[in-house]
Amino acid sequence: MKPIGQSVKLGLIVCQYCGRWIDEVETEKVTVLYGCCREETCSNGSRQGEAEND
Ligand SMILES: [Zn+2]
Repeated sequence: MKPIGQSVKLGLIVCQYCGRWIDEVETEKVTVLYGCCREETCSNGSRQGEAEND
């Protein structure tokens, strides 16, 4: 017997700085969330393009 309605992780979390895959979460639809990986260059938030223009 295969479980029906098995959880599928469609949400991807990628680093907004280097684009590296960080983690995945369960969402109802395909979603890409941006976070920050553990790379120093990224966690410092002092990478290139430090423009804070919203
Ligand atoms: Zn990164």
